[in-house]
Amino acid sequence: MASVTFKDVRKAFGTVEVLHGVSIAIEEGEFVVLVGPSGCGKSTLLRMLAGLEHVTAGEIWIGDRVVNALPPKERDIAMVFQNYALYPHITVAENMGFSLKLKGVGKAEIAERVRPAAEILGLSHLLDRYPRQLSGGQRQRVAMGRAIVREPQVFLFDEPLSNLDAKLRVSMRSEMKNLHQRLKTTTVYVTHDQIEAMTMADKIVVMHDGAVAQVGAPLELYDRPDNLFVAGFIGSPA
Ligand code: ADP
Ligand code: MG
Repeated sequence: MASVTFKDVRKAFGTVEVLHGVSIAIEEGEFVVLVGPSGCGKSTLLRMLAGLEHVTAGEIWIGDRVVNALPPKERDIAMVFQNYALYPHITVAENMGFSLKLKGVGKAEIAERVRPAAEILGLSHLLDRYPRQLSGGQRQRVAMGRAIVREPQVFLFDEPLSNLDAKLRVSMRSEMKNLHQRLKTTTVYVTHDQIEAMTMADKIVVMHDGAVAQVGAPLELYDRPDNLFVAGFIGSPA
């Protein structure tokens, strides 16, 4: 696992600046939730960390490396999106091992890495099924399994539960926390859902209009908000 640091990171699309100097320090093994209203810049920040978006100014560090110029493949991270499309024509096991296969990892080793990941996620009995034969929650778990088998230094999640129904969302929250307790992989988790942030995070970063409004443990933010925005946002569920 690795630490992640944003140092005065800015992002402009054309002439419009959408992130105005964001600094965040994430420790090894921490589960950090970036939360804020739609459009505040959460996904853009995550995409820059993943290498999917150019950094306009500032530095992003993973461990002891500045990664600004590093291609996504060399960053040792795995990302799970809200729209976690699985390949429909291959099995669960093949979906989970696909990135390893692309990397040239042998069949036996792929199977050895898929097996424990499937076990952690409760997918062991579904490995030979096809995505269409799975429920929404099972599919989301396969998407997480794909990330886990890569054994990355850092997990990135961008609203991974927002397409699931409310009941499933609640159970997936605790499953993801359990998963983190087992793997201890540094995790950056983006959501616009305050309850998700409060229940899952070691540390919450509240964002507002392209800037960090406050950073702290869930109860710290709840008890001692620095400003009216945080007080209103954390205090009142959407
Ligand atoms: P969030 O994930 O918090 O909802 P985003 O990071 O998606 O916010 O977007 C932040 C801001 O950047 C928004 O105003 C959005 O319209 C703008 N934005 C995001 N991606 C692009 C893009 N490719 N081109 C232009 N503007 C963009
Ligand atoms: Mg987003």
